Amino acid sequence: MNPYFDASKPHHRPDGFQNRYVEFKPKGMAELVRWRWNAWRQHLPPQAQMPTPTVAPDLAFIRANAAAGKDMQPSVTFIGHATSLLQIPLGGHGLQVLTDPVFSERASPLAFIGPQRQQPPGMSMAQLPHIDLVLISHNHYDHLDEASVRMLAAQEGGPPLFIVPLGLASWMRSHGVADAVELDWFDTHRIERDGAVAEVTLTPAQHWSGRGLGDRLQTLWGGYALLAPDFHFWFAGDTGYSRDFADIGTLFAPRHTPAQGGGFDLALIPIGAYKPRWFMSEQHVNPEESVRIHRDVNSKHSIGVHWGTFNLTDEPSDQAPIDLAQATRAAGMPGDEFSTLAIGQTQRLPRRQPL
Ligand code: ZN
Ligand code: ZN
Repeated sequence: MNPYFDASKPHHRPDGFQNRYVEFKPKGMAELVRWRWNAWRQHLPPQAQMPTPTVAPDLAFIRANAAAGKDMQPSVTFIGHATSLLQIPLGGHGLQVLTDPVFSERASPLAFIGPQRQQPPGMSMAQLPHIDLVLISHNHYDHLDEASVRMLAAQEGGPPLFIVPLGLASWMRSHGVADAVELDWFDTHRIERDGAVAEVTLTPAQHWSGRGLGDRLQTLWGGYALLAPDFHFWFAGDTGYSRDFADIGTLFAPRHTPAQGGGFDLALIPIGAYKPRWFMSEQHVNPEESVRIHRDVNSKHSIGVHWGTFNLTDEPSDQAPIDLAQATRAAGMPGDEFSTLAIGQTQRLPRRQPL
């Protein structure tokens, strides 16, 4: 039973949720066995040629910027996989935002088995500034981590605001977060600081949800647009390629005034965990499709995430950025329009031009 069921919404089903364009059909046991058997026989994923680039975090900048008040500079720090720290100016304080915080050793329900972290997080939890807002895209273990959620809820100075897709607030409640805000696709939550407003909207993705046996498609999945006066940000979540992204581009186009340069100032788009395509293509994009998403949503600058930390699929961990560079070249884009960051690296970004 889906307690949120609203017959007027095509992605609502009496027994859960569904994608808007391509129905999610769970792969059968035969297909799972075929994938795992082939991977085992061919020793996939191959060893990476290059270790994932890692740099020491620029803590002096991050801390000073967190305290810079109305002079805060927009920035993004890649912590690893789908976890990033954003610093977004808003009113006199600004927002410190985390996407899909996963700091644990494994992306798994069990401490001793399941995908193991290949790289330490780019910042430890103790090194984070005080977090104001946490955006959770969906409940897969590589995006929703119990230990990280509990630690953030107990951070000094009070818990952050957690925003989650429909159906996840009860999980949050039982893991130390009293009042997570739940959003349906295209629902918006307003955050007000000193009279300035940021709008956070859950955007659709073509994916699925589930943490165990029997809860598949029971909670919603998605990405987030965050529109603040000085910075427009979008986080895709996990997704296959679909028309959802052209829809997102159309929806937000009137908000990105051409006088301010138009488009999202920053998008975080997954580029990894895409092989073999016969198994993965409906749920995870490859880098060529990531570039199409970058264009569909109208992003001025994108960073590829969801690679280099956990070996989830058949491509080596250094393949995604190589394929991304090839895809941007093939699309005739400047290489720095859609690129990757080293784990721990901070990129500073310009504010939107004032009107
Ligand atoms: Zn996922
Ligand atoms: Zn994922």
